[in-house]
Amino acid sequence: MTDLNQKIADTSATLARIAADFSPAVFASSLAAEDMVLTDLILKAKLNIGIFSLETGRLHKETLDMLERVKQHYDGYEITLYRPQTEAVAGYVAQHGLNAFYDSVEMRRECCRIRKVEPLGRALAGNKAWVTGQRRAQSTTRAELHVQEDDPAHGMTKFNPLADWSEQDVWDYLRNNGVPYNALHDQGYPSIGCEPCTRAVQPGEDVRAGRWWWENPDSKECGLHMVDGKLIRIKSVAA
Ligand code: SF4
Repeated sequence: MTDLNQKIADTSATLARIAADFSPAVFASSLAAEDMVLTDLILKAKLNIGIFSLETGRLHKETLDMLERVKQHYDGYEITLYRPQTEAVAGYVAQHGLNAFYDSVEMRRECCRIRKVEPLGRALAGNKAWVTGQRRAQSTTRAELHVQEDDPAHGMTKFNPLADWSEQDVWDYLRNNGVPYNALHDQGYPSIGCEPCTRAVQPGEDVRAGRWWWENPDSKECGLHMVDGKLIRIKSVAA
């Protein structure tokens, strides 16, 4: 068995275990390449793991297009969307301005809290586990990522089934299996988030160099993920 086939088998086994032993479980998809690997494995195996995305209101058109492309490719499957609270967004914009996240790390985290962290809490409520497409090799803040972790902040178990996958593994899987992927990946975007906070990177640059590029690399997380029981963003502030 090739290295990639072994990783696919291990990942499929992990997903099957989540569906069997951690139900109800959900997969948080940002509709990027890694997420499409997991989407493909979950939907082809008809696993009982719900798939949702955070529709922040600031996503690229190409990212939103993925919702329809997933629907067409997987027999009408509709990814569940969670949106920020209208009043919270309106309050932030009225008080600080639409793009105040460029002004300071605090303003950026507050925008992420309103548009991502709070909706994520609603999406995860009532589940035993959640799944992400994070990989260890993606950034310095993900170097200690485990396939299975406790997530005390959300009171459940968190799985990162692609933790040991390389970028090449992800693309080999997508191409070998004809899986649709976000058109931005062909335009120099290895990592995709909200439109105003994501830009293309140069060949050889860190894969997350285009995310919140105006900030220190150690603070480039949105507060959605935990490492060793700690929110990465809190650890970064301490650092
Ligand atoms: S990534 Fe940017 S636009 Fe999106 S929620 Fe965070 S600060 Fe706001």
